Amino acid sequence: MTKRIGLILVVVLIQICASIQADEFDAPRILLFTKSAEFEHSVIKTGWLRKSSHVERILTPLIEEMGAQLESTKDGQCINENKLAETDVVIFYTSGDLTTAGNDGHPPMSQEGLDALLTWIRGGGGFIGFHSATDSFKSGGGPVTPYIEMLGGEFKTHGAQFKGTVRKVSPEHPAIASLPDRWTLQDEWYLFTHLNEAHMHVLALLEIGEERERQDIYNIPDYPIIWCRAYGEGRVLYNGLGHREDVWEHPTFKKLLREHIFWAQGRGESHAEANYQEVVPPQERALD
Ligand SMILES: [Zn+2]
Repeated sequence: MTKRIGLILVVVLIQICASIQADEFDAPRILLFTKSAEFEHSVIKTGWLRKSSHVERILTPLIEEMGAQLESTKDGQCINENKLAETDVVIFYTSGDLTTAGNDGHPPMSQEGLDALLTWIRGGGGFIGFHSATDSFKSGGGPVTPYIEMLGGEFKTHGAQFKGTVRKVSPEHPAIASLPDRWTLQDEWYLFTHLNEAHMHVLALLEIGEERERQDIYNIPDYPIIWCRAYGEGRVLYNGLGHREDVWEHPTFKKLLREHIFWAQGRGESHAEANYQEVVPPQERALD
């Protein structure tokens, strides 16, 4: 009898330990990479007087509040196997072919660094791309690059800024838990090519609304603007917003930042099953 009670206690203890392990995450270590081989957005610019960019100034207090750690760099050499081994979430707000020095002249990533990044994500790393992250490693008319395949879409073009509505299409998703069903804001709205329909879990669509009548290039059906996917054991999320400084300052966006980071780290349900066919019905699919 005593033996039996002992055994039950051991089983209960194992279950408790397992549940603690499943729920407990260390504070995420975040690496923000903002090299611009092509166009450099004002939100990630640093300068003589201001050593930190607008994005860093928004992220820093938020990340402190989360108990997380942030390292920010424009140095492509930082994307390497050793650095990644001590990182939980990598955030890209970049442009161009990052294996070239390009526009901003900061050291480029190596091809080994790019390969290491993709391998690291596949092995369980978290990756978040904002806005011009889809403007990096573009196919240039050739086959889809491994980076674009991973991220799930490639920047094609954009028109003048307008007030668009972000419409949530995955209501229970932990990466966008606080996003209202519909959120209208002024931003620059990217149009995409090579959307990875087979693998993406669309989180929100852009409702173009009356802008269809104003700008020809937006005279298309509503299309994905925030999405995520599983990539091997890793989690990948892309958020097309964030050209404008006031978008980064918006309380709704700040809440999303926090939720994106925790989800990319591996907290909560992955919920990354492909849903493009369900949430972007055929008659509404954007022409590629
Ligand atoms: Zn932009």
